[in-house]
Amino acid sequence: MPYDLIIRDALVIDGSDSPGYRADVAIGNGRIQRIGNLHGVSASEEINAAGRVLAPGFIDVHTHDDTVVIRQPEMLPKITQGVTTVIVGNCGISASPVTLAGDPPDPMNLLGPASAFVYPRFRDYRQAVDQARPAVNVAALIGHTALRSNHLDDLMRTARPAEISAMREQLRVSLQDGALGLSTGLAYASAYSAETDEVKQLAEELTAFGAVYTTHLRSEFKPVLEAMQEAFEIGRHARSPVVISHLKCAGAGNWGRSPQLLDALETAARTQPVGCDCYPYAASSSTLDLKQVTDAFRITITWSTPCPDQGGRDLQDIAAGWNLSLLDAARKLQPAGAVYYGMDEQDVQRIMQHPLSMIGSDGLPEDPFPHPRLWGAFPRVLGHFSRDLGLFPLHKAIHKMTGLTATRFGLHERGFIRQGYWADLVLFNAATVRDVADFTAPKRAAEGIDGVWVNGHLSYAGGKPQGERHGRFLQRSGSLVSGFKQG
Ligand SMILES: [Zn+2]
Repeated sequence: MPYDLIIRDALVIDGSDSPGYRADVAIGNGRIQRIGNLHGVSASEEINAAGRVLAPGFIDVHTHDDTVVIRQPEMLPKITQGVTTVIVGNCGISASPVTLAGDPPDPMNLLGPASAFVYPRFRDYRQAVDQARPAVNVAALIGHTALRSNHLDDLMRTARPAEISAMREQLRVSLQDGALGLSTGLAYASAYSAETDEVKQLAEELTAFGAVYTTHLRSEFKPVLEAMQEAFEIGRHARSPVVISHLKCAGAGNWGRSPQLLDALETAARTQPVGCDCYPYAASSSTLDLKQVTDAFRITITWSTPCPDQGGRDLQDIAAGWNLSLLDAARKLQPAGAVYYGMDEQDVQRIMQHPLSMIGSDGLPEDPFPHPRLWGAFPRVLGHFSRDLGLFPLHKAIHKMTGLTATRFGLHERGFIRQGYWADLVLFNAATVRDVADFTAPKRAAEGIDGVWVNGHLSYAGGKPQGERHGRFLQRSGSLVSGFKQG
């Protein structure tokens, strides 16, 4: 029986952290059927991929694409980078299960206005993803802040026992319906008042499922090490793997501390499963947080509800124009979004290089003037950091975007080029691949991405989406509880 497609003579970098090899890859029924020398074997369609790299489709481990996968299912910012799967529900904020009383609390507003939150149960969200059939696969975490907003009348306190029970129930049902795990965003005011014990009790629900705990730490500033210890403690308590989201040393006083953070991560990794994700930029982006307003580094405004015309401008210039202090100007702009140029490049590179780190974009698709990571994160690692700066070999870069991620999150039969696995694939030119999006023109597609297949279907080529969309909802597919040791 002929195959649907043979990609011939590619340099196959298979996601396993080993160097590439020349091979032909045959695809049929959405899956990788054969890998090797397929001379004399035929297919309905053949592609000559000589001089190109064939890798597993990239898995964007850290996204806020919860509602955009439904409302703009073409997913151009991601498919143009070679991303074939997004993990949503990070940083404590998820589109489901959510029942809002009014406007979404900060930072849930990063996912859209109140009208975007129409999934009271996780299974409603799952169904909506299946119906929208986005261009990329979608797997989802349940946000702690989302659960809090469902059951607490006041987010500025820790939850009471009855509220914790109600949140646990919602989390348990969501895990039964295929959610990957629990995420927190303890740095944000809407979750900061939650005591460690509240999170520990919720995390107990993860144990039976072998599901993951991901966390935007309680602090990325001076107390970052203490915040990491809190995350590890929660993971040990629930016997749950821990992923620290966008690990960084934030704030000028904190620069240069990445070796300490990575030491702490390695120490924990000796006795429990831990890892982190990171994005390849020295600037962060989120809602405009008054606690982060400073003159120590540049801050630009990306959106502002009361002052939409200020999007794209420096906070310093806005404040000067209004004759206000930075803090008063920030107050006047709220609710708003911002880019903070608050990291040191050496720290960013050290964390990205570490074997426990995965690549995630943390892109904000709702933002009218988004941080360029939304469109550029993956090609920037391949081009700028791996090829141009030589930070790590290409197969390591790809491992951080594919095999490592699929393993950490239990995404079964994804993340590797292996016989029988789903044919999520990206073909690219290693000599030319690069991010084009930057801080002044952030919505620009990468160069050098030649073809992207999702579940065996060509979905992007020649700079354009191709044919129908073929993404699926991916449910949690296995227990991750291994790697715990006495200690
Ligand atoms: Zn975050």
